[in-house]
Amino acid sequence: MKSQYTAGPCAAAGGDLSRFVGNVAYFTPYWKVGVLTGVKNLQPTGEKVHSGRVMKAIQIFATGGPEVLQLAELSIPEPGVGQVLIRVEAVGVNFIEIYFRKGVYKSALPCTPGSEAAGSVEKLGPGVSGFAVGDAVASVGVLGSYAEYALVPASQLVKTPAGLSPEKTAAAMLQGMTAHYLAYSAFPLKAGDTALVHAGAGGVGLLLTQMAMRLGARVITTVSTAEKAEISRQAGAAEAILYTEQDFEVEVKRLTGGKGVDVVYDGVGRTTFEKSLNCLRPRGLLALFGGSSGPVPPFDLIQLSGKGSLFITRPTLWHYVASREELEWRANDVLGWAERGELQLRTEHLYPLTDAAQAQSDLEARRTTGKILLEP
Ligand code: NDP
Repeated sequence: MKSQYTAGPCAAAGGDLSRFVGNVAYFTPYWKVGVLTGVKNLQPTGEKVHSGRVMKAIQIFATGGPEVLQLAELSIPEPGVGQVLIRVEAVGVNFIEIYFRKGVYKSALPCTPGSEAAGSVEKLGPGVSGFAVGDAVASVGVLGSYAEYALVPASQLVKTPAGLSPEKTAAAMLQGMTAHYLAYSAFPLKAGDTALVHAGAGGVGLLLTQMAMRLGARVITTVSTAEKAEISRQAGAAEAILYTEQDFEVEVKRLTGGKGVDVVYDGVGRTTFEKSLNCLRPRGLLALFGGSSGPVPPFDLIQLSGKGSLFITRPTLWHYVASREELEWRANDVLGWAERGELQLRTEHLYPLTDAAQAQSDLEARRTTGKILLEP
């Protein structure tokens, strides 16, 4: 007998795209996801399933380690009002999918992970205008992108430059727009500013370093290995501190003549948070945008006073692409720079969709630099 599931994307349940749950997730889909019939686990075969209305997708039936990412055969969903069905050509893997997989962020199960993809328009839902079948498109608001086909609210979809491959496009979108809002909006950098960027050889780190350089700022980064230090310097970092061997607070003070930096962009969290504050000049700002090492424990705000009337923000991309105007501004900047070669993208970590578990393991174990991509 065929199983029947009501399943959807791995995302905080119960909301819609116009709502946001604290700093828990970038997106809370409104999509009451279609009923997926005939779900069954598959062995990875490498073959593409585009026939009929069936597609391969990764599903999570329970939270846990990478092994809970299961290959499944699902019905290709029909686009509803305001939605677009896209054929996925490159999937962006992001840290948030690991938080959902582990259950750090809660989602209804079963679910299909992923919010970032580049591909082409397959079918338009009722009421959608401005897109046509075959258009090259990308989004960071895909409703489960670890799949051969996926639905996207048209409001979250952008057209992409003809000269940019789906891999480069997917590599630029989420981390690029994150770097963009950090450098241009959360703490708008200007010439002469000094920024500390943690995990400088990571996906966001490499793009943020390049954008900060573009704005005339001096960038100091932290990285875990000498190889990553070299990659970070190639992206423009003036200094790359090996925070696995050196005390980065001491090094930052030395490198700034005791003054401290204007801003710390911290996506590492638990292991860096406290010293990040100590690296700031008086009235400097800490943008805590992630926790790849774990969440930051509860914090007494009075410490901000003692450390120099500091500012902290805990931003998330969704609030910086909430309007169509802002989404297009950031996407067009990032994709345009990438197309013209002004923004270098590292895309050497490319896995078949069937190897999603390996891709997440490598990201989690700090074995990657730049972008991690899946190819359906
Ligand atoms: P990265 O490619 O930067 O990978 C994470 C990096 O964090 C690792 O490569 C590693 O670099 C560093 N790290 C330090 N300690 C650990 C640890 N204990 N375990 C794993 N990694 C560690 O990932 P992304 O660019 O995809 O994302 C970076 C951060 O930004 C994440 O926290 C993510 O959640 C966040 N993010 C937030 C967004 C927002 O809007 N708020 C949007 C997008 C991402 P090294 O080996 O050099 O230490």
